[in-house]
Amino acid sequence: MPAMRAVLGCAATALFGTCYGAVIDQRDTTPTCQETQVLILEPYLDSGIIEAELNHREVFSTDEDNQAKIYHVENTYSNYSSILTYNETGYTDYTSLFDDYEDAYATVEQDAGTILTENLLDRNIATAFTLAGWQPRRDPAKQAIDWWEWDWEWSFPPDQTSEVFGIVNYNTTFYQYSEANNYVFDSRGFNTIVKGLASEYLEPDDPRLLLNTIVTNITHAADSVTVHSSDGRCFRARHAICTFSLGVLQAAHAGAAPVSFHPAFPAWKQAAIAGIAMGIYTKIFLQFDPAEQFWDEGTQFFLYASPTTRGYYPLWQSLSGPGFIPGSGILFVTVVDEQSRTVEAQDDETTLQQVLVVLREMFGADKVPYPKAFMYPRWGQVPWAFGSYSNWPPGVTLEQHQNLRANVGALWFAGEATHPEYYGFLQAAYFEGQRVGWDVAECLKGGRCPSEVNYKTLHGTTNASQYSEVNGWEVTSFQTIGDV
Ligand SMILES: Cc1cc2nc3c(=O)[nH]c(=O)nc-3n(C[C@H](O)[C@H](O)[C@H](O)COP(=O)(O)OP(=O)(O)OC[C@H]3O[C@@H](n4cnc5c(N)ncnc54)[C@H](O)[C@@H]3O)c2cc1C
Repeated sequence: MPAMRAVLGCAATALFGTCYGAVIDQRDTTPTCQETQVLILEPYLDSGIIEAELNHREVFSTDEDNQAKIYHVENTYSNYSSILTYNETGYTDYTSLFDDYEDAYATVEQDAGTILTENLLDRNIATAFTLAGWQPRRDPAKQAIDWWEWDWEWSFPPDQTSEVFGIVNYNTTFYQYSEANNYVFDSRGFNTIVKGLASEYLEPDDPRLLLNTIVTNITHAADSVTVHSSDGRCFRARHAICTFSLGVLQAAHAGAAPVSFHPAFPAWKQAAIAGIAMGIYTKIFLQFDPAEQFWDEGTQFFLYASPTTRGYYPLWQSLSGPGFIPGSGILFVTVVDEQSRTVEAQDDETTLQQVLVVLREMFGADKVPYPKAFMYPRWGQVPWAFGSYSNWPPGVTLEQHQNLRANVGALWFAGEATHPEYYGFLQAAYFEGQRVGWDVAECLKGGRCPSEVNYKTLHGTTNASQYSEVNGWEVTSFQTIGDV
């Protein structure tokens, strides 16, 4: 039988897209299953069996020469120095606090390195910052800086984030590749990258790719996986690769997702799924009449310090300036975590009224008109994601994280959350897809299936020797700033 893959998935890879309709589990009524060798439960990124021609540096570097390789997505350098700071009285310059934070960060990153190499107890990174002299708790301006520096990237506050793995995550992404961040605003959507990668190994209308196919049930065993979809079809394969988001796995465990797994996962797997955190990251967009633009056209960022609530509509970004979409009149504000849950639970009009109050405090009550358009996605509610991306909480060891990666019989896992170093970022999903693809390919070639380690008993700390490939630790976290 020729090597053949069937790919199940969902076309909704655009940032504001969705692909779900009604979900009906028809697994008991399906008489026969289509047989194949490997099922990839959603073809989001390169899944590795057929290797894409790009290497990671080319895909993820912000180097200008390599930009074209990320499928010509429109992007502009995010200039973090282009920022004005505000509080409830309007413009107030507290930018000198950035240096205080950076001084503390330099201490915290050294401390994290010591914890990692000496097998010491990890802690939440807010504690580490406190010990390093950065104490934002009673100062709204410091809290705004704290939010910009931490929550904006990790989608969780520092007191809910591991010191060691938070620092590793930053080092391996920004020190290893580049500290430069570019903002992507391509109107074709985020799935331009996904489609670009897929075009390297799938034909147009490739019958192996099943879009808009909702997986409703996955029955897994040691030597096969059977998958049912909401349209009544059934597929059986020797192996299946599941790249559903951590949010979907968590919801499935709670019986709250459109998909269920049978039998229930072993205890070590369930604890790992429950133990890693899934964040919500919400961008709230407003579009004003360009003739009425009230913010400085040349400034990219506007930071607001709420007098009462940390993370309350704190960071505003202009898409109207040079390099973005000049004349668009678009401004957006980002919230995460609890604030995201709040805006997701309330209606658009309530949120709009709240953001207008903040904008009028920042720029003047008489300066801010009613916008002509307003929208935001609710990532925590979409049934194919149930969140935005993962974060590493304090108290989770590398062993427990490895349990999230490890296969359960013939069912294999990949996705942004399964990478122990790049978790949360797109390159995590890319490399994990590649890793599991190669593992399954080895199995199919008839050799010994690579053994993915799992830990039924968890130890309290991570021994230095465990930071190795067997636990997904492929690059050193001791990086120096700059491109590789
Ligand atoms: C608002 C936001 C901003 C972000 N910003 C950045 C950034 O600046 N930089 C960065 O590197 N990363 C960023 N990310 C994170 C990045 O987008 C993710 O890490 C990455 O997309 C994860 O890819 P994945 O393949 O692991 O999972 P997902 O993207 O969640 O893909 C999982 C797929 O599974 C499918 N699926 C789920 N359930 C089913 C089912 N029952 N049946 C069939 N298919 C199903 C879904 O449709 C989806 O296509 C951001 C994410 C969000 C939401």
